[in-house]
Amino acid sequence: MTERTNWGKQTIAVATYHDGKQATRPLTIPVLQTATFQVESSEVHGRLFRARDDRIYSRFGHPTLTAAAEKVALLESAEAALIFSSGMAAITTTLFALLRPGDHVVSQREIFSQTFTFLDRLARAYGVETDFADATEPAEIERRIRPETRLLYIETPSNPLLKIVDIEAVAALAGARDLLLLVDSTFASPYLQNPLELGAHLVLHSGTKFLNGHSDVLCGAVAGGRELIGRIQETQFLLGGILDPHAAWLLMRGMRTLGVRVRQQSAQALELARFLESQPQVRRVHYPWLDSSPYVEVARRQMRAGGDVLSFELDGDLATARAFLSALRVIPIATSLGGVESLIEIPAELDFGEEDLGEEAAKESGIAPHLVRLSVGIEDLDDLKADLRRGLEAAARHA
Ligand code: PLP
Repeated sequence: MTERTNWGKQTIAVATYHDGKQATRPLTIPVLQTATFQVESSEVHGRLFRARDDRIYSRFGHPTLTAAAEKVALLESAEAALIFSSGMAAITTTLFALLRPGDHVVSQREIFSQTFTFLDRLARAYGVETDFADATEPAEIERRIRPETRLLYIETPSNPLLKIVDIEAVAALAGARDLLLLVDSTFASPYLQNPLELGAHLVLHSGTKFLNGHSDVLCGAVAGGRELIGRIQETQFLLGGILDPHAAWLLMRGMRTLGVRVRQQSAQALELARFLESQPQVRRVHYPWLDSSPYVEVARRQMRAGGDVLSFELDGDLATARAFLSALRVIPIATSLGGVESLIEIPAELDFGEEDLGEEAAKESGIAPHLVRLSVGIEDLDDLKADLRRGLEAAARHA
């Protein structure tokens, strides 16, 4: 582990499984497709059970998962990490582990909609109150901190407007008051951003996105200090949101190409963001690496590239955006991001009922009904550009 902490991120991502001293061993981590493990004696069984060994019962962990967690920890410069059955399992288990009735949270307003709903409804029902703030202004977070505040929660880049929160500035607020800072870094991946190095206590990922990278596994991760991760692990045992062996193996396979995927996706996303920005039917493009982004300075300070997601507003309305999406032939309409294939969606269609897709809902959320979110994959750039042109022509015909 110590030697590997000095390796570059793509070397860590590629590194295969080394399990010790046998003359030969598999180059890749094997899948131990088993729910439980046979043990030589009852005494050993008891000892390993109490030690939470990863060869006792697969809800407590299993060797394929241990290897995946170790890789995520190394990628995030963390002492330890845990892998979950989804990003939401990682987020909710972590929050359940750290919060108690009477605690208070200050969270960024613009976070993944289901994380918002968890904090706003479920956590509140368990006696944990959350205040939401525009975290791009750290003073807005500071204003909401109370004596009962335990934890600050941010997500950067944010979904779907790609706002960037200054992690170091929020970490300074947390540090001064002995609060925990949690960062959902899904949109960046560990290849582009490492919040723990900027002062955060825990970093969260929907591993369904960049970590796995092939849109074929749901998983999540949390990484941080050993003591905090140990507490979260005890809650994970109880809530049971663990990843099964086969899915953990697919995650390990996916992670090996993290660097090449993320570099290519970020380069293509920047090209397409610039292309869209130059089109007369596009009112606005949101992408943190564009010179026109209000967040470009912070983004360049804490990230290594802009990531694969951009969003844009077409000249027109929801029907224009729908016409744009329907004309595409290369890019499928689907929700997710960070995978090798480009995906496109209208965020407002997913977060509001059809009757709520109007001006009021847009004003409240800041998300226009005709905002389009594009996750850029590794297809040939010319084909993606041609597809977007096809969409723009359909949108122009519709307007
Ligand atoms: N966090 C962010 C930023 C996300 O975009 C998502 C999913 O889209 C999640 C968390 C939840 O992850 P999962 O779908 O793997 O549960």
